[in-house]
Amino acid sequence: MKKAVNIFWFRRDLRLDDNIGFYKALHGKHPVLPIFIFDTEILNELPQDDARVTFIHETLQKMRDKLQEHGSSIALYHGKPKAVFKEIVSKFNLQNVITNHDYEPYAKKRDAEVKEFLSEKDIGFYTFKDQVVFEKDEIVKNDGDPYVVYTPYMNKWKEQFNADEHLKIHYTNEHLKNLVQHSRLPNLKLSDMGFEKSSIKIPEYDVTPTTIQEYEKKRNFPAENATSHLGPHLRFGTVSVRKMMKKAIAQKNETFWEELIWREFFMQILWHFPETVDTAFRKKYDRVEWRNNKKEFECWKQGKTGYPMVDAGMRQLNKTGYMHNRVRMVVASFLCKHLLIDWRWGEAYFAEKLLDYELSSNVGNWQWAAGSGVDAAPYFRIFNPTTQIEKFDKDRQYIKNWIEEFETDQYPEKIVDHKEARERALSTYKKAVS
Ligand code: FAD
Repeated sequence: MKKAVNIFWFRRDLRLDDNIGFYKALHGKHPVLPIFIFDTEILNELPQDDARVTFIHETLQKMRDKLQEHGSSIALYHGKPKAVFKEIVSKFNLQNVITNHDYEPYAKKRDAEVKEFLSEKDIGFYTFKDQVVFEKDEIVKNDGDPYVVYTPYMNKWKEQFNADEHLKIHYTNEHLKNLVQHSRLPNLKLSDMGFEKSSIKIPEYDVTPTTIQEYEKKRNFPAENATSHLGPHLRFGTVSVRKMMKKAIAQKNETFWEELIWREFFMQILWHFPETVDTAFRKKYDRVEWRNNKKEFECWKQGKTGYPMVDAGMRQLNKTGYMHNRVRMVVASFLCKHLLIDWRWGEAYFAEKLLDYELSSNVGNWQWAAGSGVDAAPYFRIFNPTTQIEKFDKDRQYIKNWIEEFETDQYPEKIVDHKEARERALSTYKKAVS
């Protein structure tokens, strides 16, 4: 008779410490077999040298090394999750699968399928809250309705928040002896999955006290590079959100803390309104008659619109997988308003390129820029991509960093006239929403 085991399934929580599901698994009745599945449903959509796949792979190799010091490892699989579990149950005496919540529509469907398959075999499937402080419908109005405006949500979030209770850190080091003692678990190379190493690296995050203290003053100036770069680390769970909240609170910096609450705001919006992934939150905005000019979309993607702030941002994104938040707002507004290109096209391009791509935040912010989302900017507020330079990059430092040919005759002509494009956007939007 094979020895009974529980599985801990790592997904978007790639760390060993303060990982709530992992902690719970280590406190179960049976030894824990850690696994990760490179899901072909997701990988098939990605380019061969996707930087996020390289990052996940490297992170897992480091986690394997660490667990090998404890006589264990992480088993890596490549395939559709249900098929992988079929293989696992044929090899192990599996009792339970433990994992952390994932709120995205595809993940919910995947988990429901896996759970059903396991329950047919009398295997338990347990999931825990880990990636947020408050999830799903934990922060709602007094009548139970979800908040669709950020400020009251944030106020309620803070009202319900109790640092001792919600930021308790779950240390796992001393429990690693409860892992399956088998260090030669299946491994995978990137090439085994048809991938290659990306030349783009995910930067380290920076949440030093100075960065947090100066955040409010500097965060809007793209040349300063004064934000935390936490995005991809929160996305893949290489940091614990509780530890980051603790750091923010220790500096008594409400602004930085509130950005982390924005992330939770959009996650609960996705939970309550999953249809907003591809339909406007405010329905009448789906009546906007987009121009969707493919040539102009190409210019936008390549950073060749003739508007330096837009072009610098797109080139930063293409080269590094990152774009400063202020510039994300400018390029998104430019696409939806100046070019009248559907926000879904922009959202999809960001999804392909951003290292910190997060469905809830990306959709939420794109709909904000398009005017169609929760708590969105009114449609008639149109960013002027030139005055944004005067306000946030006066010395053109950011622009010069990303546009080599800036101020030479090689730099492209403007593809649209600001005043005309603005008026066209106003009348098109007005027609749709009035
Ligand atoms: P910091 O400024 O240091 O903020 C710390 C953390 O707070 C971020 O890592 C993020 O988790 C959270 N945060 C900050 N601003 C926002 C915000 N507006 N909405 C939600 N969370 C926020 N953020 C993503 O994480 N993934 C995306 O796919 C994404 N797409 C975006 C698309 C558009 C059009 C716009 C305007 C913004 C988008 N953002 C997205 C929000 C924001 O731009 C990034 O979170 C931020 O620039 C990441 O850099 P940072 O980690 O240095 O952020």
